[in-house]
Amino acid sequence: MTPIALAFLCLASAAPAVPKDVAQQASRLRDEALPLRGAADIVRSLTDEVGPRLTGSPGGLAAEEWALKKLAALGLTNVHGEPAIAPHWERGREEGEVVSPCSQRLVLTALGGSPGTPAEGLDAPVLLTEDVPSLVALLSKDKDAVRGKVVFFNKKMERKRDGSGYPRTVGIRAEGPHEAAKGGALAVLIRTVGTSQARLPHTGGIIEAGGLVPSAALSGPDADFLERLAKAGPVRVHLLLTCKTLPDAPVRNIVGEVKGTSDGIVLLGAHLDSWDLAQGAIDDGAGIGIVAEAARLLAGGTHPLRRTVRVVLFANEENGVRGARAYAEAHQADAGRIVGALEMDFGTGRVYGFSSLTGPGGDEAAQGIFELLKPLGVTERGREGDAGTDVSPLKALGVPLFALLQDGTTYFDIHHSADDTYDKIDPVALEQAAAAVVTFAAVAADIPGDFGRVAKDKQGSTH
Ligand SMILES: [Zn+2]
Repeated sequence: MTPIALAFLCLASAAPAVPKDVAQQASRLRDEALPLRGAADIVRSLTDEVGPRLTGSPGGLAAEEWALKKLAALGLTNVHGEPAIAPHWERGREEGEVVSPCSQRLVLTALGGSPGTPAEGLDAPVLLTEDVPSLVALLSKDKDAVRGKVVFFNKKMERKRDGSGYPRTVGIRAEGPHEAAKGGALAVLIRTVGTSQARLPHTGGIIEAGGLVPSAALSGPDADFLERLAKAGPVRVHLLLTCKTLPDAPVRNIVGEVKGTSDGIVLLGAHLDSWDLAQGAIDDGAGIGIVAEAARLLAGGTHPLRRTVRVVLFANEENGVRGARAYAEAHQADAGRIVGALEMDFGTGRVYGFSSLTGPGGDEAAQGIFELLKPLGVTERGREGDAGTDVSPLKALGVPLFALLQDGTTYFDIHHSADDTYDKIDPVALEQAAAAVVTFAAVAADIPGDFGRVAKDKQGSTH
């Protein structure tokens, strides 16, 4: 090696992970975004023109068509759909009432994937329990304890800025129905997995491991009422659900790009489907607004980026995650080109933190991004890469994952309920989140180096 070549190598290794020109462009795009309200405009278009978009429903199809047109109109290129096959479930009538010791209607909503009751409904005594472990403990003592009963899981969700109350509670919804079915229960009621005391139950998916029984969520006040009755003495309820699962449906992940000048991809995700009870404004219209607005700003930038920024609006996050799984499977061979992925799926709150899971040598550049996020009020730094559901299957392919942590203090008041409508969107906070995504993407797509690959021992499960 000549001395000149050696000197060049030394200089190259001493270069900052985020060169000055890359940082300057990212800062300019970040500051340009803040006064705009483009992210909220995108959410308004989706919620008002399409509305609810459950997988397999006419709204689901309309959302795909909307996304194809919208991404192209925002200046993205190579806009197309990529196919997947996903569950198709339909809600029907949903009625419940206490029939003994008094007679009062219950406000409830079926959980996604629940089977229906017999056509005439069902009538059974209620068994109160807290969560899945308490049910399992009960069944280990008396295997017939829930046979012929309506199991009522009554666990309250805690309000937390980072949403950590959700994983501590959601097990009653995800796993409660089949655990109760194993014990011979006739049906399941859960206290709604949410933080609001509005009389609005929150739906959500069930894990289908084995058999299922008709299952529904009670609003907070209705759960309180049933809890008081069940603690005082025997209670019987009547339930009628006409929901049903239809044959799987074809769906599409909708993809659009801001083309780079050389190889490599930065993936920005959100999910296109929503539950059926409302417009899906915060879940996940907000995420779509944020990433699509960020891509629009990048597409309008004066200086082309090295890498392609790819927006993926995933299908079927809510009741199957089949869009994300199909995406990871279809892109196994070229996942090496994806230098980083991030998903926005936590509503309309301001971004307060940045988390990254990088490979060896990748942390310096991630830290550089964090420095550029600080003027937006981003103060917390994590290294778990606790990314969204749809990008997490990419981790097993070695793709570094990033997360912009949003304030979720009120997210679970609205999430999955009939209250998830456009008026809940905070246009100022949404643009701050878009500015954060622009900053991340402008650096990730333009730095000379990359973030390494996530080591095998950190790849974990694919989902
Ligand atoms: Zn979501």
